[in-house]
Amino acid sequence: MKELILEMEQYAEAKNIPIIEKESIAFIMKFIKLNNIKNILEIGSAIGYSAILMASVDSDIKVTTIERDEVRYMECVKNVKKCNFDKKIDIVYQDALELNLSDVEYDLIFIDAAKGQYKNFFEKYKYFLKPKGVIISDNINFHGYVGGKKEITTKGLKGIVSKLEDYIDFLKNNEEFTTNFYNIGDGLSVSYRKNVK
Ligand code: SAH
Ligand code: MG
Repeated sequence: MKELILEMEQYAEAKNIPIIEKESIAFIMKFIKLNNIKNILEIGSAIGYSAILMASVDSDIKVTTIERDEVRYMECVKNVKKCNFDKKIDIVYQDALELNLSDVEYDLIFIDAAKGQYKNFFEKYKYFLKPKGVIISDNINFHGYVGGKKEITTKGLKGIVSKLEDYIDFLKNNEEFTTNFYNIGDGLSVSYRKNVK
């Protein structure tokens, strides 16, 4: 397992695949343990790095993870097999904005796919969250560009950053959810439903 994780880190580095930062996944794994989270939905599997680590927290954790890129999906399948997590991790090869989930309810939804779509993912998938469930989003600081902390040089980057800023506003002004923001790794947000006893 440890070896596979190392292998995945090297593969991601070599192929420029944006897997989660170590600090951030450590935070999430601790969060999963402390809150006794069992059913997780991940949007954006890449090669399965974060899915495998989240699933490894406890023997009865189940992860459903969605990936739209074929090469990454195949790599994810391979890695999940390698650590014998086939029964713990369900990998869905589809665009998350097109997928229709059945009525499964999740304790945690982890948003880590196209940064310009975070609000759409949130609005679509909140219906699959248990009343006390939590939505965590990664890369909310986007390498320090969000919030005007670093000069933006390209149009594409500008688009992503402004969408992430809109998403942060959307979370801050949300009537249904309260959100805490953390300067961990590339920035994490943790959103909880309000008024849940
Ligand atoms: N969670 C992974 C990293 C994911 S990188 C980890 O930390 O290990 C983001 C991934 O989201 C990319 O592989 C990209 O192909 C995928 N993605 C982006 N938009 C998507 C969408 N709409 N539906 C499904 N996957 C998407
Ligand atoms: Mg990420």
